Amino acid sequence: MRGLLIGRFQPFHKGHLYVIGKIAEEVDEIIIGIGSAQKSHCSDNPFTAGERLMMIQKSLIGVNFSKNYYIIPINDVNNNSLWVSHVKSLTPPFSKVYSGNPLVKRLFKEAGKEVATPPLFNRKEFSGTEIRRRILSRESWKELVPEAVVKVIREVKGRERIEELTLGDR
Ligand code: ATP
Ligand code: MG
Repeated sequence: MRGLLIGRFQPFHKGHLYVIGKIAEEVDEIIIGIGSAQKSHCSDNPFTAGERLMMIQKSLIGVNFSKNYYIIPINDVNNNSLWVSHVKSLTPPFSKVYSGNPLVKRLFKEAGKEVATPPLFNRKEFSGTEIRRRILSRESWKELVPEAVVKVIREVKGRERIEELTLGDR
């Protein structure tokens, strides 16, 4: 059985890693869809699809993740009723979708897919919004993401990028 997890992963954090571990307990293979793949270089979506792909792949290699997985960037189509077909056109076949997002759940349910809401893990801190906020305000954030993500963000000068995009034009 193949399961699908979709997120924006801006950035990939330990909550995502935990939930992937949980999903792995019940699937044979996992598909990780990188949503809003075309977005980057803005304060809510600082990282490119390729950078997010690096974060995810290096993190999973870093924990010796044992299941087979596919990481697929998925551009927005800005049309909710077409979105599920769009996702299916890009991914390997799957029978179960894991998401906490009400819209994602609704759209896949209407398309006849089994949908599960995975448990949230330390959501106050393991949250993309919170991590982007902390990077910007120079609070501690590195403990909230896998070591591999710290390295990718350093490599692409992520903090400088977020600071410049958010504070630059004032
Ligand atoms: P943002 O604040 O930017 O929306 P996020 O932390 O919610 O970032 P997403 O990429 O939106 O990250 O998350 C995709 C999916 O990952 C969510 O729908 C949820 O199912 C799962 N997820 C996110 N954070 C956690 C967490 N702390 N514990 C478990 N699952 C999580
Ligand atoms: Mg979210």
